[in-house]
Amino acid sequence: MRVVLLGPPGSGKGTQAQKLGRSLGLPHVGMGDMLREAVKNRTPLGERAKEFMNSGKLVPDSIILELLGERMEGAKEGFILDGFPRSLEQVKRLEALLEREREKLDAVINLKVREETILRRIPGRLVCSECGQVYQRASPSSSTQRCPSCDAPLFSRADDVSDTLEKRIETYLEHTCPLIDYYEKKGILRDISGEGNPKEVFDRIVKALN
Ligand code: ADP
Repeated sequence: MRVVLLGPPGSGKGTQAQKLGRSLGLPHVGMGDMLREAVKNRTPLGERAKEFMNSGKLVPDSIILELLGERMEGAKEGFILDGFPRSLEQVKRLEALLEREREKLDAVINLKVREETILRRIPGRLVCSECGQVYQRASPSSSTQRCPSCDAPLFSRADDVSDTLEKRIETYLEHTCPLIDYYEKKGILRDISGEGNPKEVFDRIVKALN
């Protein structure tokens, strides 16, 4: 199965893609996670990507495609993709990649959330430095929490600050929103409410894929 998750920042793409990958036994290819890993390891690609990420802009395709190419080599039997494609140009790149394998996407999950949900979720978000699992901060003051599953420290994403978030939403509306129409016309779009807890959203996705 080849599935793409679409949605604005804070819609739960990463959380759901990780859950879905685990439950279907497919690799979860998370573009944002790969970029953050490259930034953390100070690789040449990460160093170039950092300023774009921290200002809420799209990272140039040359960087994105290099990271993606390596990862997709191990995803020939199927994948759950989150954070790619994010522009119509990237849609074409993905199609070219799939055509080479004589494959196509099975479904595009469009996670829909209200703006107030985004604004509530993002400032409270903490990410595990080891496994990438996303949590909500228990209280605003407890910033030094550890991951319940791997005990690594949790951190706040550098781009989860209000100015950058505003720009990320703008970038989403300008570059990524047009993909909804595109995949709708192809007949593979599944609109899913991203409201509620992760389990509720996950159950809706599983139902839509059956
Ligand atoms: P979110 O969807 O919550 O904004 P992600 O973790 O998916 O977060 O992405 C974080 C940042 O990484 C984006 O704001 C952007 O700068 C960069 N990024 C991720 N995926 C792509 C992509 N496909 N193309 C360009 N930039 C990307």
